[in-house]
Formats: sequence, structure tokens, C-alpha cells
Amino acid sequence: MLGWSIKLFRIRGIQLSLHGSFLLLLAYATWAGWSEERGPGALGNVALVLAFFTCIVLHELGHAFAGRRFGVDVTRILLLPIGGMAEFTAIPRRPLHEVLMALAGPAVNFVIVGLLLTVVRFPPHWIDNAPAIPLTVGELGRHLVAANLVMGLFNLVPVFPMDGGRVLRALLASRFSYLRATFAAATLAKVLAVLAIAVALAAPQLQLAPEPLYLPAVLFAFIFFAGEMEYRMVRRTELEAAHWRHWWNRQEITSLPPVSAEPPC
Ligand SMILES: [Zn+2]
Repeated sequence: MLGWSIKLFRIRGIQLSLHGSFLLLLAYATWAGWSEERGPGALGNVALVLAFFTCIVLHELGHAFAGRRFGVDVTRILLLPIGGMAEFTAIPRRPLHEVLMALAGPAVNFVIVGLLLTVVRFPPHWIDNAPAIPLTVGELGRHLVAANLVMGLFNLVPVFPMDGGRVLRALLASRFSYLRATFAAATLAKVLAVLAIAVALAAPQLQLAPEPLYLPAVLFAFIFFAGEMEYRMVRRTELEAAHWRHWWNRQEITSLPPVSAEPPC
């Protein structure tokens, strides 16, 4: 599923790639903008998507550069319509390093919010009257402040493998084995993801929205499977490590020269 991607450019050795389905998102944003406000609407929507995904890249670079400090490299950042994914060569085993690496992403969003707020001004009751499509630079800035705030906070929700979930796993790993910590964080994430999917689909009945929230439901389904995949990967590497440790110990024992082999003279 993640194979069909377009290579964009490299940032300090990290390949930035765009998943093919991202083009569908751009096409949808153009169409939605055009049908509401014609040319300016299409332009505003495309500018918003591009600016928003630039912030996602910066968020992922936050993780990547923090990881490099702890000897974990990033080979690729892949942009999907639902967000970004950084591919790491390893996961830091020191809980503090994993916490700092996980927090570096949302920290970038909060820095962007802080920088934008030095120039962007909000009229009173903006949230109630915010237009869906930004038609001015000021409106684009306001949308970006809101989007970065939501992105930073949403990623801190302790649902593994989102950033908050990684912080939770690292905290658990300081008390339990790495595998048990991952299992506990992933299990909690799956329960919360299923609840969130149910709430998103039952949004009209719960009077949260006039229609079912399909996009958040898909996002939580993705988080559910991403958590399960990462847990399986951790389990496989831990089992392999245990197998080799066991094998190596056995070899050491059996390869010892037999003590009583020398005939006493
Ligand atoms: Zn992140």
C-alpha cells in the first residue's frame, strides 16, 4: 500500500516522498474550492493543503533531527493524505531518548503557532465564523495557527504509535520489559481507536455532527493497524534477539574445552 510514491527531494540526507494518493487529496481540495468560490477558492484550498503539509514535514523533521542526536537515523519521510510518516532505522532504547524524540514533533507545531501569532491577528469570535476556505493571506495564517495547534495537541493523545503513545510506551518501558511496554501501549491504543471509530461513525446519533465523520474514522482505523504492525515488529525483533542470545549462550557453553579431557599424567 505504501509502495506507490513519488520522490520529491532530500533534506539533509532524508528523502521526502509523496504517496500517490496525496494527488487525490490535492485534486479534491481544488475541486471543493472551485465549486464553492471558483478560482480564488481553488487557489486558497490548494495553498492551505500545501502549507499544512509543509508543517507536517517540519513536524517529522523535528522527530528526525532529535533522533539523530540519539544515533537513530531517518531514511525517508512519506507524506500520506492523512499525515506524515518518518521511517527510522531503529527506535531509541533509552526511554528518555524516546520521550524527547516523540515530543520533538509536537514541539515544532507549538513553535510554528508561536511564530505565526507574532503576525497573525484573530478577530473576535473567529472560530464561530471561520470560513471553510481561506481567501486571503490573513485567513490562511489563521487556519494554519488552528491546524498546528490541533496537530500538536492531537499527536500528544496517548494512542500508540502516535507521539503521545510513544511517550506512554517509553514511560512503561522504564518499569517493564520493552515488549510488555509496547504490548500495553498498543492494546490501550486499539481500545481507544475502536471507541473513536464508533464515536466518529455514530456522530449524527450522538449529535456531534450532521453526518458520520468518515475521515476521522479512517484515520483511527489506520492508527489501529499501525499500532498492531509496530507491536508485531517489536515482538519479532525481541524474539530474534532472544533466540540469538540463547543460541550464543549455548554455543559458549558447548564450545568450552572439556576440562577433564586431558589425561592426568
Ligand atoms: Zn509526530
